[in-house]
Amino acid sequence: MTQLVWFREDLRTDDQRALVAAVAVADAAGEAVHAVWCATPAQWDAHGMGDNRRGFLLDNVLQLQAALAEAGIVLHVVDAGDFAGSVRAVLDIARANGAGAVHYNEEYPLNEQRRDASFDAACAAAGIVGCRHHDGMLVPPRAVLTKAGTPYTVFTPYRQAWYRELAADGGIAPMAFRAPRQRADAAALAAAGARAQQVIAELRARLQVPESVRAAWPAGEHEAQRRLAGFADEALRDYKARRDLPAEPGTSVLSPYLAAGVLSPRRALAVARAANRGDFAEGNAGVVTWISELAWRDFYRQVVFHHPHVSMGRAFRRETDRVAWRRDQRDFDAWCRGETGIPLVDAAMRQLVATGWMHNRLRMVTAMYLSKDLLIDWRLGEAFFARHLVDWDFAANNGGWQWSASTGTDAAPYFRLFNPVRQGERFDPDGAFVRRWLPALAAVPERWVHAPWLAAEKHADLFAGGPSFAPPLIDHERAKARVLAAFRAAASTAA
Ligand SMILES: Cc1cc2nc3c(=O)[nH]c(=O)nc-3n(C[C@H](O)[C@H](O)[C@H](O)COP(=O)(O)OP(=O)(O)OC[C@H]3O[C@@H](n4cnc5c(N)ncnc54)[C@H](O)[C@@H]3O)c2cc1C
Repeated sequence: MTQLVWFREDLRTDDQRALVAAVAVADAAGEAVHAVWCATPAQWDAHGMGDNRRGFLLDNVLQLQAALAEAGIVLHVVDAGDFAGSVRAVLDIARANGAGAVHYNEEYPLNEQRRDASFDAACAAAGIVGCRHHDGMLVPPRAVLTKAGTPYTVFTPYRQAWYRELAADGGIAPMAFRAPRQRADAAALAAAGARAQQVIAELRARLQVPESVRAAWPAGEHEAQRRLAGFADEALRDYKARRDLPAEPGTSVLSPYLAAGVLSPRRALAVARAANRGDFAEGNAGVVTWISELAWRDFYRQVVFHHPHVSMGRAFRRETDRVAWRRDQRDFDAWCRGETGIPLVDAAMRQLVATGWMHNRLRMVTAMYLSKDLLIDWRLGEAFFARHLVDWDFAANNGGWQWSASTGTDAAPYFRLFNPVRQGERFDPDGAFVRRWLPALAAVPERWVHAPWLAAEKHADLFAGGPSFAPPLIDHERAKARVLAAFRAAASTAA
């Protein structure tokens, strides 16, 4: 008999709960451990996952394969098509390798929940034990509920309850990986390794990932841990002061590793707490604020788990599905290409396309600009982000978009609109960030750098012979009146 581990978006050996459990059972029973990972390209298509993220997953699977082989564990890599195919493929591998149990970590969006329910049923029918583990959140979604037993929909009280769970310390200590006693033989390891390389090369050949993106995000858990340690040493304690400044390296840039499970959230929490004498809710403001971001990550995952309609393309606040979004392809294309005329929005969109990542402040600014200033359906922006983000994570992306568009839980109220020029002046005061991505702004004086069309109108002499700066797609005050009217109309038809 063997124990089988089904890897998903938990591509690491460190503190991987399903893997730890499988090794413990196997060692106690004198069994070997096998592992499986299924590519599901048809499912990724259905979910809108872009090539950047697919490429990152594939690179990480290869790293994982090597790490598991070193520990004597065979990783079977299969192209299963979609989730239904993955259920069949894992069962086939379980049978072929005499697995008594399949260990896997739960995932929370709707299709993943459905896949796991059908897998559990298929296991029961086949006489195999399906062992579901909790791994991808610091606190599982069923553990943080209001006194009435309902899920939280507002972040601050959620975080208070979340802190109480952390204080109870139920399973948040990371677990180190230990290789199983029984190793697979060298020939089996080599054959599975060659097969994995082949499957991944075939999948990779279908992707178009810019070299700039691949170079920015080296795969592997060593890289993730190195980045975590570097961030803890250099920027964590100043995080609160610097996290909103896109020109500075003030945030951890760990999101691709956390989203693909290459880094354990418990490991991230443990490193942060160690820099704050073990505290998470008080002490150094930088550390406390950063841990609070990990709470946002859990918060949006539990939203997805408890409110499956958000996984079906629906607004969390159902009445906001009546907003009459504009269908304006020209404006949408200008937003995608970083040609709205607003430097902060355009620079951010270019950062996204060139690197597969965007600074958090700018995700909020660009998302609000699309959904509020341009009054274009947030779902189009959500899909564009999914196509480009290396860190694409359904729950965080959907939560962030619905927050920005005022359609979600705990969302920005609809009458709250960022003024994108003011955001630039506040968070990129000397224009270092916008100049990095928009070279035409190089010589524009600081006071005009976030609204160069004004300078071009008033001081044509300054720009003679230089680049021209057209006014933005829409005047912010006019846009504000338009979006407020649209939200009010939606509320009155719902009433
Ligand atoms: C419109 C929009 C879309 C977003 N899409 C995604 C996405 O697809 N994937 C993603 O991981 N994050 C997303 N975020 C959240 C956030 O912008 C990124 O997690 C963050 O910018 C990643 O950079 P970092 O690793 O340096 O974060 P840090 O500031 O160092 O934060 C540490 C970690 O906390 C988590 N985190 C931080 N902020 C949030 C948040 N608001 N919601 C959920 N988790 C958070 C991330 O895992 C992040 O790596 C989105 C936010 C918005 C407003």
